[in-house]
Amino acid sequence: MISYGPVSCDLDFGRDGVSAGNLYLDHSDDAHAATLVPVPVVVLRNGAGPTVLLTAGIHGDEYEGQIALRRLVHELPLGELTGRIILLPAVNAPAVRAAMRCSPLDGANMNRAFPGSAAGGPTAALAGFILDHLVPLADFVLDLHSGGATGLYCDQAFLCLAEDPVLRAKGIEAAAWLGCPVTYAIPADADYGDFDGAVLARGVSLLSSEFGGGALASPTSVGRAVAGLRRILHWAGVWHGDVAAPGTIYSVPAGRLLAPRAGLFEPLFEAGETVVAGALAGRLFDLDEPLRPPLDLRFPAGGIVVNRYRPALVPAGAILASLAEPRAPDAL
Ligand SMILES: [Zn+2]
Repeated sequence: MISYGPVSCDLDFGRDGVSAGNLYLDHSDDAHAATLVPVPVVVLRNGAGPTVLLTAGIHGDEYEGQIALRRLVHELPLGELTGRIILLPAVNAPAVRAAMRCSPLDGANMNRAFPGSAAGGPTAALAGFILDHLVPLADFVLDLHSGGATGLYCDQAFLCLAEDPVLRAKGIEAAAWLGCPVTYAIPADADYGDFDGAVLARGVSLLSSEFGGGALASPTSVGRAVAGLRRILHWAGVWHGDVAAPGTIYSVPAGRLLAPRAGLFEPLFEAGETVVAGALAGRLFDLDEPLRPPLDLRFPAGGIVVNRYRPALVPAGAILASLAEPRAPDAL
């Protein structure tokens, strides 16, 4: 039995074969009197070798990665593996069950809860368990996200660039093996509370990703996630399948289009499009005054639209589009 505050798990992570169990979060509130909230975990192990930790559902309403990990459990024959894969397809299981981005137990965003805290509430405790007990088992971590209810992403590797040159180089290489059309690279930040920065600060190699969004499960994005996972497992030396690195376009942030006021937004672009600075991005209509002329919104920079706001009804300050400009991998 391993434990961290109110979270415990009695699964034997060193056992060969297919093992499934739960992390159990001991939680009590008005809706859960004396409850052990289960967080599912699967281990595929075939002898000694590297370990890859695969995580999805840190945000509960992001589905492509959750489906891709569940598919892998059924589609990877144990005989084709060397070493171990640890899969957490619903890391923030309370949020997954509630179809919410954040946990319904305490309202916390798990991707701001790392490195975690045993006494900091249920979300921080789950974060701490994973960082203290599961991340140290891994040679490589791949975390899967998507746009959730309010975002749409073009399928991309989300690359937090570590200061450590070895971790940094591994992340850049992993992004090519994930093989998404775009890789969006930003500096890692160990104090931001996200999983990426916390894992890299522990000296473990990690890549994150964004597949689709809109609380949907697009077949294209799920297919890309599954294919990318297989390539990552091959690159990490865990799966023997015959695949090659397709490469990617590396990019860095170029600018963001914000909604200057609330309204009804008519976008004239899609996620994944390449746009030019100053081009008309869309029209923002007043919700209550149909005769008021719409506000023309123009792109503040050129580049690839790596994500867009999904709902048409936008609040002031909504990020309507994030733009990225291509960079050579050695110039990131
Ligand atoms: Zn997310």
